[in-house]
Amino acid sequence: MSYRLKPQILNDPFQDPVLYMPFQFEKRALLCDLGTIDLLSPAQLRQISDIFISHTHMDHFAGFDLLLRGLLRQNMRLSFYGPSGLREHISHHLKGYSWNLAEPGPGGLEIRVHEIVSARQYRCQKFRFHNRFDPGPTTSVTIQNGLILSDLDITVRMAILDHKLPCLAYRIEESPQYHIQKDRLVEQGLLPGRWLNTFRRALHDQQPGDVLLPIADGPSPPMQTLKTIKDDFTLCQPGKVYAYVVDCQFNQQNIDRLLPLIHKADTLFIEAGFRQQDADIAWERYHLTTEQAGFLAGQARVGKVEPLHFSHRYIDQKDALIAEVNAAFAASLDGRLILSPPPSD
Ligand SMILES: [Zn+2]
Ligand SMILES: [Zn+2]
Repeated sequence: MSYRLKPQILNDPFQDPVLYMPFQFEKRALLCDLGTIDLLSPAQLRQISDIFISHTHMDHFAGFDLLLRGLLRQNMRLSFYGPSGLREHISHHLKGYSWNLAEPGPGGLEIRVHEIVSARQYRCQKFRFHNRFDPGPTTSVTIQNGLILSDLDITVRMAILDHKLPCLAYRIEESPQYHIQKDRLVEQGLLPGRWLNTFRRALHDQQPGDVLLPIADGPSPPMQTLKTIKDDFTLCQPGKVYAYVVDCQFNQQNIDRLLPLIHKADTLFIEAGFRQQDADIAWERYHLTTEQAGFLAGQARVGKVEPLHFSHRYIDQKDALIAEVNAAFAASLDGRLILSPPPSD
């Protein structure tokens, strides 16, 4: 079976965490965090449509200028999602350069920033190259159940975690794929065409099953209900679910927010900054340990855990870090490992 996204951790686990997620069948890619992105080619940069920023510590955001330079002359829209303060950070980056040669006009690079100011609201603001990146008006949008993006291909939710500042974790779900069974079409004397796009959009929009849709192109086509088309001509393949979690303290509030977000993800990308023997340091620095990362993965019943963002202090202990995560994951899954955070003050 083929899936929409093909996620790749870009850097070594001791370097900046960046998750690059190209679509297999489209010229589009997602990015989680924006630290060092030197490994991305100009063509790969141009495919990025949406960037999910956990927080703006340098190791998660220092690639902004490189990305901006690579995309400046592109006629495209780049959407950013991130925590409180993101609009200001991006605005200051943009103000750090001179744009006097940018000619006013339509098109050009548009940066659209979605700043998640609370669990229930984000603020959206546009910055356009041809407008010399002057900030546009701000609009406020209500968030329900953590949902920040939903389109034909993906649905993205977030949770706000505590890293001594707000740090966002993300859940990225592929939309189900309805595979048209062409032999069934042929049996019914139907031809593939644009009407299938109308059908796919109706599915995505969750239109009622009794809505009538065309089953041919051209004027006055025969009509059929959405439910009949779905039942008779498609096979449904559920999408994969990915979760991205970095930089958070193992405290009860974070655990309570994280577990529903990462529940049964097919792959959990999660920081495992410190070894368990250094849990005190991890706590003080608002990071997770290997064992905590594995424990959370097991409690959430994820399919697979991919640890990242190891502290440099363990540069020669990579295998040991991975082994600790995997052992904790297995023990958490079968109930042998129960971890509790320290009691709050
Ligand atoms: Zn951080
Ligand atoms: Zn970090």
